[in-house]
Amino acid sequence: MTHIDTIALPVSAPGTTRSLRVHRYGRAGARPKAYVQAGIHADELPANLAAHHLAGLLAAADRAGDVVGEIVLVPLANPIGLSHVLFNHHQGRYHAQSGQNFNRGWPNVAIGAAEAVRGRLGSDGEANLALLRAAVAEELGKVVPGNEAESLRLVLMKLAADADVVLDLHTDSEAELHLYVDPAHWPGAADLAGLLGASVVMFCRDSGNDPFEETVCRPYWLASQSATGAPLALPLSVVVELRGEADVSDELARRDAEAVMRFLAQRGVIAGSGETPPAFTGIAAPLEATEIVKAPVGGILVYKKELGEQVAAGETIAEIVDPLADGAGARTAVVAAADGRLFARARQRLAWPGAPIGKVQGLTPLPGRVPGKLMYD
Ligand SMILES: [Zn+2]
Repeated sequence: MTHIDTIALPVSAPGTTRSLRVHRYGRAGARPKAYVQAGIHADELPANLAAHHLAGLLAAADRAGDVVGEIVLVPLANPIGLSHVLFNHHQGRYHAQSGQNFNRGWPNVAIGAAEAVRGRLGSDGEANLALLRAAVAEELGKVVPGNEAESLRLVLMKLAADADVVLDLHTDSEAELHLYVDPAHWPGAADLAGLLGASVVMFCRDSGNDPFEETVCRPYWLASQSATGAPLALPLSVVVELRGEADVSDELARRDAEAVMRFLAQRGVIAGSGETPPAFTGIAAPLEATEIVKAPVGGILVYKKELGEQVAAGETIAEIVDPLADGAGARTAVVAAADGRLFARARQRLAWPGAPIGKVQGLTPLPGRVPGKLMYD
């Protein structure tokens, strides 16, 4: 039976209210538990549209009695950012009051939770998970948020923290569909990548600044470091980047929602189809092998490569044009550092020094790409 809860967010300004709508399918406490949220970056609307289609499919599955586990869906994870419209342009990536990226600084209780279960994990893997989940819940209960964005993150983390499967739906600027996943889950998550038709899968565990999908996992892998008995199953926590911000269409969203349904069937959360998922045919490699291509100068960004093109080291991806300069001096080439696939570009065509203008996925870690500093803000 589907339930829709409304969770009020703390009042930020007198006379205003905000809330989260949480859709729940199946039976509370049933396993496996899947948690899906969309649009924590509030300007990534294809994620929300896919979640809207997913809600319809899940409600139908629930009516048919096909939900085996428990599913929690937050189709609109960031009502704060959705209201950030400035001079007729929607923002939504950063919290306007604090400047914080909405997908950084999630409540990280790994150290406290791992400490709480130290020496108590035994040979029963399920019992270990139950102990750790309780410890995580207790630690999250102690967190005191410092502003409305932190309050939002804490509410969402509490909903996700004990799930077996976590899908965090996002959208890049202009991009092919791609995923971020913990290295422990590769090639285990190839079914999801194949079903979604992902072009690139990046492995990440410590990108820096506590993004959501890594922070959900962290107590589990930290506790597993000191576990001597049964292995501690790491939740499958995945960032799903549903192409680019302008890729808003019912056809794509419906296709993505259906892929998520088939994946949930693969994982036994909903009644299974027994299908063999399509093979993943893209690139899977560490996030250290992802080049974040940055503009060296300011000007007008003119791409020379399309999304999905293979580029060679030294090859020109784009030129930045200074309309005030003459001749050859008017154009600055932006070249690839290494061989790889150009899978993301910037939708905004004004460049400035240091602006991220693309992502190229290679196979080999790049110099300077080190854990803790793998993300741009
Ligand atoms: Zn995002």
